[in-house]
Amino acid sequence: MKEEIIQLSIPTPFAVGDVHAYVLKGEAVTLVDCGPMTQEAQHAFVTQLQEHHLSIDDIDQVVLTHHHADHVGLLNMMKPHVRVIGHQLNEPYISQDSAFKQRQIDFMDRFFQQLGVPLRQGECERIVKQSYTYSCTAHVNDIIKEGDRLKGHEHFLVMETPGHAQSHLSFLDETTGNFIGGDLLLTTISSNPLMEAPDEGKERQQSLLQYKASLHRLLRLPIKTIYPGHGQLITSHHELIEERFKKQEKRANTMYQLLKRKEMTAFDLCRTLFPVLYEEALFLTMSETVGQLDVLLAAEQIEEVQKDGILYYRAKE
Ligand SMILES: [Zn+2]
Repeated sequence: MKEEIIQLSIPTPFAVGDVHAYVLKGEAVTLVDCGPMTQEAQHAFVTQLQEHHLSIDDIDQVVLTHHHADHVGLLNMMKPHVRVIGHQLNEPYISQDSAFKQRQIDFMDRFFQQLGVPLRQGECERIVKQSYTYSCTAHVNDIIKEGDRLKGHEHFLVMETPGHAQSHLSFLDETTGNFIGGDLLLTTISSNPLMEAPDEGKERQQSLLQYKASLHRLLRLPIKTIYPGHGQLITSHHELIEERFKKQEKRANTMYQLLKRKEMTAFDLCRTLFPVLYEEALFLTMSETVGQLDVLLAAEQIEEVQKDGILYYRAKE
């Protein structure tokens, strides 16, 4: 059966603009992502469903591409029978688990100090709490993982595509080449590989390295059209991915050149690379900086030394 994919565009209070949710009409009526928990988003969501002769009651299940607030907030509107399906790492975020939030705050406090960020009192707590402002309180009912099939839409293959989020999944319809990509690849902006608190006792994941691997994987897939989480549909993803790689290489090289001149902390680098943005978007810009440092470390172009609990980076001879 040919699958119908309906795109809904829902406003967000974020700089990225609208977020796209998708309704799949197959053996089940499935919503992929929703929108942030705002009145505007609720209104747009209901109205656009109506335009397609649907209501909230028609939705059987919601599949999540990842846990960010602009993709999950409206889970709060779903009827009790609706099953929430996604990567297991969504759970602590979408349920707003308080012990997990504290772990996120502690991780950021510790890591940012090592990275040389002059933190104001309570700043990490503020950043972490802010990330939940438009989110939901829900639970993952069915965990899916790499290689699974979407229930009710068996031709959709589940793929783990981490980097932008550790919980990030994408869905490839092998019969049509349609690919529901969440925030893996967007036309309007390059997706940020965000830092996340690791599982207890585990090391932090290297988000940019993961993200690059996910993009490399995209290049090898039989994709015709990407249905993204924001912006236009993508039909020439190879070109766009090459562009993203080039931009990343350029940034890595700029950092390498800076580190050839002198030893710097991640925060020094962040301020130099993003002199305008770094204050208001500290978490985003630090995530990007740490990501590039991971890439340069993995390529053995730079090295890391610790002095008095602070990490310094320098180019290798
Ligand atoms: Zn996102």
